[in-house]
Amino acid sequence: MAYESVRGMRDILPEETPAWNAVEARIREIARAFNYREIRPPVVEHTELFSRGIGEATDVVNKEMYTFPDKKGRSLTLRPEATASVVRAYVEHGLFNTEPFQKLYYIGPMFRYEKPQKGRSRQFHQYGVEAIGALDPALDVEVIDLAWTLMESLGIKGLSLRLNSIGCPEDRVRYREALREYFAPRIGKMCPDCQRRYEENPLRILDCKNEICQPHIQGAPGSVDYLCDECRDHFEKVKGYLDQLSLSYRIDPKLVRGLDYYTRTVFELVSVDLGAQDALLGGGRYDGLVEQLGGPATPGVGFAGGMERLILVLRARGLLPESDSGVDLFLVTLGDEAMSAAVELAHALRRRGIKVDLDYRGRALRKQMKYADQIKAQHVLVIGENEVKTGTARLKEMTTGEETGVALKPEEIAAKVKGG
Ligand code: AMP
Repeated sequence: MAYESVRGMRDILPEETPAWNAVEARIREIARAFNYREIRPPVVEHTELFSRGIGEATDVVNKEMYTFPDKKGRSLTLRPEATASVVRAYVEHGLFNTEPFQKLYYIGPMFRYEKPQKGRSRQFHQYGVEAIGALDPALDVEVIDLAWTLMESLGIKGLSLRLNSIGCPEDRVRYREALREYFAPRIGKMCPDCQRRYEENPLRILDCKNEICQPHIQGAPGSVDYLCDECRDHFEKVKGYLDQLSLSYRIDPKLVRGLDYYTRTVFELVSVDLGAQDALLGGGRYDGLVEQLGGPATPGVGFAGGMERLILVLRARGLLPESDSGVDLFLVTLGDEAMSAAVELAHALRRRGIKVDLDYRGRALRKQMKYADQIKAQHVLVIGENEVKTGTARLKEMTTGEETGVALKPEEIAAKVKGG
């Protein structure tokens, strides 16, 4: 029987991991520059966390969750996103008792039972930040600025922000009513999902991707027209800070994001030269989520982006490292005695922080030299019977072809390899 990976879950092979590592390192670097600390919640949670936190009427919960019973029959779910988990951790560990204001980031796998296609998989990866414990509109803009700084530092140009405010829960009651009224004469011609959404939460109709629904969605009222004074003031201040930092945005009155926990600010960062309308990342405020998950009333704001999508974009623009940097030294060995000396040298050199490899397949000199080239060895040291006897060998610098004599002593080889 031939084994295959589970549909929609793919291997990230060694050819790709240098790119992933480079992007992840940049995410960590930028998150740290903004003083966000890493959190790593587990990948499995109790199903209720997501159905309550994200919302029963969302596509993510309704259609896409990987849910299964454990051996005791409790319903568990592979996390489809991380905000609910981060907030659960914040509440569970009483982080608010010591310091209610927490700036956190994460990188890790997420799971959604979707139809696999280019850029969409069932196990995918997200990076994101959560700033919990302050209502200041400057914090919304810090989160946006972090995302922007990250994309720019990776070399992505033509960035623009899609921005909206969906207000507080009270505003949303009025907005939902307005949407119901607007869609009432149209819903009969719309897709079955929208008909369900109409009953459960008409806001979700606005995320519908179905062609037949688009013309009906076009003319729907926008949420900004239903904001209370406080939410309007918050939104104005967010825009003010964005202007101040020259971060350009476009108000998209239909942007609601696909998860129920959002309040007030919602946004997506897009690159205009990406062509498609697909966002690089998206996020917003979730001022009710901490309380909803059992903590004290605490506001929060964050974003999440897809790693696969980001890497696709970076690769298409030639902005990724092609491969790892190679090794400092390859030890070519001829014969058993040489192998014995090389094993010992490699051991000692690696402990000195030198990247070393050697031949384990008893291959001919020429093959070993070719392999050294293939793995991008900067230096090669050929050890044969004679070298073992004299205790010296010639160290070859691969780019220049220059050769120098060295004693077969780790200190001396290390010094030469590091020096050149
Ligand atoms: P969302 O949590 O739906 O707002 O998505 C945030 C990011 O996750 C986006 O940048 C998406 O590209 C990415 N994403 C969501 N679902 C998938 C998936 N099934 N496969 C790959 N990336 C995904």
